[in-house]
Amino acid sequence: MKLPFAEPYKIKMVETIRKSTKVQRQNWIEQAKFNLFNLRSEQVYIDLLTDSGTGAMSDLQWSAMMTGDESYAGASSYYNLKNAIKEITGFDYFLPTHQGRAAENVLFSVLVKEGDIVPGNSHFDTTKGHIEFRKARAIDCTIDQASDTSVFHPFKGNCDIDKLGKVLRSHPVDKISCIILTVTNNSSGGQPVSMGNIRETSVLAAKYGVKLIIDSARFAENAWFIQQREKGYSGKSIREIALEMFSYADGMTMSSKKDAIVNMGGFIGFRDEELFRKAAPFNIMFEGYLTYGGMSGRDMNALAQGLYEGTEAEYLGSRVGQVAYLGTRLKEYEIPVLEPFGGHAIFIDALKFFPQISREEFPAQTLAVEIYLEGGIRSVEIGTLLADRDPSTRQNRYPALELVRLTIPRRVFTNNHMDYTAAAIRNVFERRNDIHKGLKILKEVPIMRHFTVELERV
Ligand SMILES: *Cc1c(COP(=O)(O)O)cnc(C)c1O
Repeated sequence: MKLPFAEPYKIKMVETIRKSTKVQRQNWIEQAKFNLFNLRSEQVYIDLLTDSGTGAMSDLQWSAMMTGDESYAGASSYYNLKNAIKEITGFDYFLPTHQGRAAENVLFSVLVKEGDIVPGNSHFDTTKGHIEFRKARAIDCTIDQASDTSVFHPFKGNCDIDKLGKVLRSHPVDKISCIILTVTNNSSGGQPVSMGNIRETSVLAAKYGVKLIIDSARFAENAWFIQQREKGYSGKSIREIALEMFSYADGMTMSSKKDAIVNMGGFIGFRDEELFRKAAPFNIMFEGYLTYGGMSGRDMNALAQGLYEGTEAEYLGSRVGQVAYLGTRLKEYEIPVLEPFGGHAIFIDALKFFPQISREEFPAQTLAVEIYLEGGIRSVEIGTLLADRDPSTRQNRYPALELVRLTIPRRVFTNNHMDYTAAAIRNVFERRNDIHKGLKILKEVPIMRHFTVELERV
């Protein structure tokens, strides 16, 4: 019998989480204006809002924090991180930032100007936010299969090379800021991008003289899927695969709160010194001096260690395996979930779950609220609320998919928590036909409204 992937760690410290009653949750969600971001964490039993910054650090990461060097310039922690980044990504130059969006802000200050376009596979919401804030446009060239939840495609995060080619051909080169490949493709369901696709994208980028940037938050999970699914990679290590992925890019932005398993941190990696030199002053203005940016020395130490731990096959097997475990439970209960399962989350297709609720009434947000009421589980809407309004027409944008994301923090929950979650969602599924109405907006802001939106029941 083939031995399964088990967690390559044991638990040394635990944190208490508490259940609540349905009556309490009814009150809390009303006070939160039906926005799960407004809940206090004590009002949540199992928090699957995000896998960002919610991972459990290891004993080695905690001990690395104790030896952090807090010198303003030239700290040893900076060099520890520099070495780790070079070893894991191959990039010679880097700038530390406080998180991924800060990396975007600094890099886009150099690359993106008004009237530009930024093609790629589905851009993450903060990425799109930073692009649109600069009056430029993100163009989504993800393959069409990504928007069909029942099609099996091993690399549903891929960029459609024909679509990308058309975009590149039909715009002057000086209007194209860069191409951004997001690995794994978060907005299309944590779906991986194949090595072949990264390579083809880089060939196209080079042909048009456009830079290729990898949005790398989940690069290690992406490498895991390449190892598992792509021909020619089963014998390669995760680190070899990651190095090859990055070898096709001119730079990377990193939210270290994901695959580097720290609670805060990010960086930009650069292939050539010139772009690094141009970005450096923006890092100093927005983040901090070049050798700490947005991070303390101790944080850089923990991040350096996290980059190594996050790229171990045994860990990735148990992590991605836990996500698939939850997906399999939900499938057994016939709940419509996105397949193949993503690397960091399971996505429920709310249009199939609640076909009776119109899209104007935010079916995915309605489902997220019901799941909270049922079991005290916090998930997140990836649908019309998140998609925001069109910047020019101010109409709601209806994305192809209306999803609820159950995001699994790294090294935090056990499979018993997954069983509990699946049971709660099954209970909602069994009473789905009693729910006819969704939600409507009371208050919203013009950009990234989902974080602060206030809603009420229709
Ligand atoms: C989280 C994330 C970001 C932004 O990073 P933060 O650390 O949250 O600022 C950018 N891109 C992707 C794909 C992400 O998942």
